[in-house]
Amino acid sequence: MAISNQRSVTVLGATGSVGQATCALLAEAPDRFRVEALTGGRNAYAMVTWSKALRPAFVAMADPDVAREVEDALLGMDTVVAAGDDAVAEAAERPAEWVMAAIAGAAGLRPTLAAAERGAMVALANKESLVCAGHLLTAAVSKAGGRLLPVDSEHNAIFQVLDFARADSVARIILTASGGPFRTWSKAAMASVEPEQALKHPNWDMGAKISIDSATMFNKGLELIEASHLFPVDHDRLEVVVHPQSIVHSLVDYHDGSMLAQLGLPDMRTPISVTLYWPERAGTALERLDLIAMADLTFEAPDEDRFPALRLARQAMLAGGTAPAVLNAANEVAVAAFLRKRIGFLDIPAIVEHCLNAIPIAPLPDLASLWQIDAYTRRRAEAAMVSGLYTVSWHHAAQ
Ligand code: NDP
Repeated sequence: MAISNQRSVTVLGATGSVGQATCALLAEAPDRFRVEALTGGRNAYAMVTWSKALRPAFVAMADPDVAREVEDALLGMDTVVAAGDDAVAEAAERPAEWVMAAIAGAAGLRPTLAAAERGAMVALANKESLVCAGHLLTAAVSKAGGRLLPVDSEHNAIFQVLDFARADSVARIILTASGGPFRTWSKAAMASVEPEQALKHPNWDMGAKISIDSATMFNKGLELIEASHLFPVDHDRLEVVVHPQSIVHSLVDYHDGSMLAQLGLPDMRTPISVTLYWPERAGTALERLDLIAMADLTFEAPDEDRFPALRLARQAMLAGGTAPAVLNAANEVAVAAFLRKRIGFLDIPAIVEHCLNAIPIAPLPDLASLWQIDAYTRRRAEAAMVSGLYTVSWHHAAQ
């Protein structure tokens, strides 16, 4: 069935890795899509480039100085340029049918919620929104009659192979993890890892935050929590398996013995395209997966001793309430500090574990309480880094 009308779209985080991949797909199909709004943070060059290519009605840059730069560069176009967090939220509120949520971190929550609250189809890359506020986001989607379309390659894979109507026929959902650049490294070797090494993912080309999350395996931990909100299965039926080649993007194991997987090259344009054209499927010019040429596909159990992030995320998921928001905020602070070389690689999970242990869990928060717990956790994580009082047992074992 051909789509007769153009789909109106907005890209939140258009200047980032997922955002620019989305813009590139939009630029390839101008007859299929009309771009309502693009948002960015500080990257003027990328915003100007994509605004000229896609001619959005509205552009928002979180940084006011950068917004002025973008406005000057787009003089003469019909695009309205605005600045600040309110403008980013306004971009999400504008009437686009489909919204890509690709801002990194909890900063993406407010605009993602705004898009969900007006019933948009939300293509969700910003997993941190779901981790912190999954109950609010999923409730907003249900109330407004919209839809969450997972962009994360693993969740997009499950979205494609899960029989949502027969969730009780599912024995397990298995998320695959590449294992990151330090999959085979000892804890002692990981203790002296530099940000430049951690940023080099073996298979995926991604933004800085998610690259570090992949190296610590917090990315997979966040994805466990993300999956618990997206898919109607119990927490104890969510598993992780390490698959270094990143070809099998995830699997659903049914009670009848069938295990269904989705395969593809590690290229985010495939899951983005699945959501962009959903429920249609479009032909793309992307490289095809060549099964014969492909090397062996291997699978191994995750090592939660060397990568405690998985254990911590499962602990937060099972505890519920504010625990996932604490995990997320502490991790964001620790990742930023590691990137600035203020702390070592192994300090990231140590700081998260410290915050999880130190901050009492409260029941599921409303949005205002959520921001309070987020800000409080960030202060506690910062204080722990300044005092150095966060060393936990597994960390000692690495020395
Ligand atoms: P990037 O760091 O490449 O891009 C982040 C985007 O968010 C940029 O547009 C950035 O603007 C914008 N941004 C950052 N801070 C703010 C803020 N405070 N207010 C408004 N905008 C802001 O990240 P990725 O594209 O790699 O990841 C985006 C999200 O998608 C993350 O949640 C990640 O976990 C998820 N994801 C990413 C994948 C990938 O392959 N990259 C795969 C699966 C999920 P600017 O650059 O202009 O400052």
